[in-house]
Amino acid sequence: MTETCPTPSEIESVIRNIPDFPKPGIQFKDITPLLADARLFSGCIDLLTDHFKPGTIDAVVGIDARGFIFAAAAAVKLGAGFVPVRKKGKLPYQTHEQEYELEYGTATVAVHVDALKPGSRVLLLDDLLATGGTAAAAAALVQRLGAHILEVSFLIELSFLHGREKLKGYPVRSMIVY
Ligand code: AMP
Repeated sequence: MTETCPTPSEIESVIRNIPDFPKPGIQFKDITPLLADARLFSGCIDLLTDHFKPGTIDAVVGIDARGFIFAAAAAVKLGAGFVPVRKKGKLPYQTHEQEYELEYGTATVAVHVDALKPGSRVLLLDDLLATGGTAAAAAALVQRLGAHILEVSFLIELSFLHGREKLKGYPVRSMIVY
């Protein structure tokens, strides 16, 4: 039996909003009900990857931690490698690091120095675009390795936080926009 691909609005219908998590004022988008539904999860990966022809992406770079879930599945679908951008201190080999600003303070992400070959074609993927600081820092790391970002893609975009402004110069795509 062939199942029909879900629409973005069907995917949106299972994303759970958790008010005031992890702190007051944050509307946390809980994607776990989506991940638990085989058809919706697989359809979501189809929707994130279907505009790339086979062989046109060398690596899917995923951002710690929920970005890994989508990036790893997308990499398998695209026949590409998977590269993690992790929070500082988690990667075992030599790294490049990039600091970025949070609402209060700063955070740092890291990538292995040999994670991507210069000139490799990259899809950068995360679950959610909020202020854009995390994705912009990850994009800077990919650039530092000499790779070429074909697209920065998100499952969810909180457009009222204007994260796209930090990603100027890259094609940005998101499936569900709030
Ligand atoms: P930002 O750097 O502000 O764009 O934040 C993006 C990162 O924080 C992503 O990796 C998201 O997983 C996480 N994040 C930020 N805001 C939310 C939210 N409202 N719900 C779920 N995750 C969020």
